[in-house]
Amino acid sequence: MELNHDEIRRYSRHLILPEVGLAGQKKIKATGVLCIGGGGLGSPIAMYLAAAGIGRLGLVDFDTVDYSNLQRQILHTDADVGRPKTESAKETIHGINPNVEVVPHNVRITSENALDLIRPYDIVVDGTDNFPTRYLTNDACVLLKKPNVYGSIFRFEGQASVFAPHLGGPCYRCLYPEPPPPGMVPSCAEGGVLGVLPGIIGCIQATEILKLAIGRGSSLVGRLLLFNALEAKFRELKLRRDPQCPVCGEHPTITELIDYEQFCGIVPEPAAALANPDEVTVQDMKKALDDPKLGITVVDVREPDEYEIAHVNGVPLLPLSELRDRFTELDPNQRYYLHCKVGMRSLQALNFLRQQGFKYVKSVKGGIDAWSQEIDSNVPRY
Ligand SMILES: [Zn+2]
Repeated sequence: MELNHDEIRRYSRHLILPEVGLAGQKKIKATGVLCIGGGGLGSPIAMYLAAAGIGRLGLVDFDTVDYSNLQRQILHTDADVGRPKTESAKETIHGINPNVEVVPHNVRITSENALDLIRPYDIVVDGTDNFPTRYLTNDACVLLKKPNVYGSIFRFEGQASVFAPHLGGPCYRCLYPEPPPPGMVPSCAEGGVLGVLPGIIGCIQATEILKLAIGRGSSLVGRLLLFNALEAKFRELKLRRDPQCPVCGEHPTITELIDYEQFCGIVPEPAAALANPDEVTVQDMKKALDDPKLGITVVDVREPDEYEIAHVNGVPLLPLSELRDRFTELDPNQRYYLHCKVGMRSLQALNFLRQQGFKYVKSVKGGIDAWSQEIDSNVPRY
């Protein structure tokens, strides 16, 4: 592994650092990193690793660029909306450093392909936004003995660590043995996220990767770094390996990849579409609003800030966060359709009202987002 004249000039600020030097820069060039997710975290990770001269950068993402991504996913530009994220990312990365070998994987990572995707790389970096993929990435990395550089973000808070049982540290399951019940932890799409936050957490992940590549410094193995952007505070937790861990413990029960959607309690999409008798469509909601004789009241259970951004005319607001105190404003013998942004919180509201003895409550599948797409495009999507 040699550096040409262009590379020596490009990486000169690394080469004069005694901790990196020519030997370290060659190690960076010899390192292959697989980045799972080309979104908020994947953007700074991929861009800084490329700038730093990582040799090979794989990027797994099956999604296309959406306008709502641009507030934080700086790999992609306004002109990229609608394009596959891997394609847009490859262009951006080559624009920064043409020496990097970019390997786009325009697929969803699954239990079937994860081991083959990960095997050719030295380090894996978790830039995912959902629990099934996070557990899948963890288990595949433990089985293949690859360091898993973890980061996650929500609203104003982020966390980062390096999971590597083969280096003496814990894995993600040692920290979180059980996934949260589905729908209990909102995604960034439901709960929001400060645009800069993935930049900070992603840069911490990129830093850990470079340190692993050159073998210098103290890594985040065995430590969880927590950052609160609103308070401008970092905290640190010591993590220990759990000897009972089902994947990295002394008597592992998970020795091959499992069904992670099922593990996280997520019902497969086609079955969910057929099976949930608690849901109605936005077309049903329109009928209820158009025809008062049906005797169905539609209620919006989102928060006031969201109502201000977008709402359906004539639909009253009763936020889920206030439902416990205010449900007596509703009549338990009346028929209700509840809607939220995408249909998760309205199901929670439905379950609560049913416990209070409400006889007829349905949740509008897809929420106001589906309303905007299928009924009235004048209602903005957010
Ligand atoms: Zn473990």
